[in-house]
Amino acid sequence: MSYVKEVHELIDDGLNEETAVQAFQVLTLIFDEEFSIPHLEEFRMELRQWQKHRRKNFRNIIDRFGEKYPFPIELTWRNVKFKPKRVKRCAICSNYYYDVSRNGRKLTCFNNGICEHEYEVRRKRKGPVLEPIYRRRVEEVPLDFSPAKEDARQHALLYETEITAWRNGIGKL
Ligand SMILES: [Zn+2]
Repeated sequence: MSYVKEVHELIDDGLNEETAVQAFQVLTLIFDEEFSIPHLEEFRMELRQWQKHRRKNFRNIIDRFGEKYPFPIELTWRNVKFKPKRVKRCAICSNYYYDVSRNGRKLTCFNNGICEHEYEVRRKRKGPVLEPIYRRRVEEVPLDFSPAKEDARQHALLYETEITAWRNGIGKL
C-alpha cells in the first residue's frame, strides 16, 4: 500500500510500516484527548491554530509521545510531520483517525482492522453503512450536556483500550 509522504518518511527513517501508520493514529488520539473537541472541523482548526500560534506546545506533544513509547528510532516534531487536514472521523466507531492513504480515501480507523472489516461487512449488506453511529456522535453531543459527558468518558475508555493494545503490539516488535 502506498501512504502519504509523512508516513513514508518514518519508514525511511527505520520504522516498520505498521508502526509508522500507528504512530500517526495514536498521536491523533493524544491530540483528541488534549483538546476534547467533538466536531471534526473545529478539531482540525484547533490543531492548525496550535501549529501556528502555540508551536512550542504542539511540538512538545509530539516529542513527549516519541519519548513515551519504545520506538526503535527517535521520533520528534522534526520527523513526525503531523498534518491536521488528514484527521478524519471513522465511519464505524466515530473515533478520530489519521488518514495515511495516499489517495485520502480511507474511511475507517486503524484499530487492528476491526473497523475496516466491519465497514466491509456493512457495505455488502443492503442499507446505509454510515448512518447510525455517526448520527449519535455528531448530533447528540452538542445538544445535551449529560450525553456529552458520557461520551467523553466512553471515549477516554476507547482511547485507553487502543493505547494499551498498541503498546502491547509495539512491545513485540
Ligand atoms: Zn474505527
